[in-house]
Amino acid sequence: MTGTVYLVGAGPGAADLLTLRASRLLAEADVVLHDALVGEDVLALAGKAKLYNVGKRAGRPSTDQRFICRLLARLAGRHRIVVRLKGGDPSLFGRAGEELDACRAAGVPVSIVPGVSAGFAAAASLGASLTLRGVARSVTFVTPATAKHGVPSNEWAVAAANAETAVVYMGAVGAARVRDELVSRSVPASRPVALVENASRADERIVRGTLSELPELAAQLGDGPALIVIGEAVAQASALARSAAA
Ligand code: SAH
Repeated sequence: MTGTVYLVGAGPGAADLLTLRASRLLAEADVVLHDALVGEDVLALAGKAKLYNVGKRAGRPSTDQRFICRLLARLAGRHRIVVRLKGGDPSLFGRAGEELDACRAAGVPVSIVPGVSAGFAAAASLGASLTLRGVARSVTFVTPATAKHGVPSNEWAVAAANAETAVVYMGAVGAARVRDELVSRSVPASRPVALVENASRADERIVRGTLSELPELAAQLGDGPALIVIGEAVAQASALARSAAA
């Protein structure tokens, strides 16, 4: 038999930010391979599936990507619905490219089910619009992180420095480098930044400040997943929040 592999976005954490399609596929799934970032309440929706935790967290032991790709293709030979559940949206920093390729190379039908990316959850938490009329007409999703054996490159910094609003994934751990790379590319040290840890979850935490303070701000966070949002649009939201509170 040939089943279908679905690369499903699990959203940022809160189970009610899952799409209806994701929720239906989880209920129907025979097997679910999930990331470390996917919570118990989301996994509980996969009532009859066998669960595999193939999670990766930066700096901790992780399941080899090639192994995951092989496993997906193999499982599709035995099961009708194979769900590969990923945090946020599968198409952003989620290794979906490798998994799409592996399935296609094995002749396995594969499709993507989009999810709410952490960047959008962070904007919601900040009460900010990532685009803002007259302030930001573009948003850049960027990461300084490279694969373990990837070629180091600073293209991300060029993109982030040129961004009106930059949403930086996997950047809080290297916050000093993010600041230094941007400031060295003439981004004003006074540019507003906000960090959101565990966006959409009960233990969500927000810190705000300026680019120059980024390392100190990042040091105030715990070890949950965190995003950095950089740009004037962030400040606009906090200014409005302050005036509403006044
Ligand atoms: N595909 C995911 C991103 C995977 S990369 C998405 O679309 O959201 C993993 C990084 O995403 C983390 O290091 C962190 O920077 C960010 N992230 C994921 N979930 C998050 C959350 N709930 N709050 C803040 N950042 C999060």
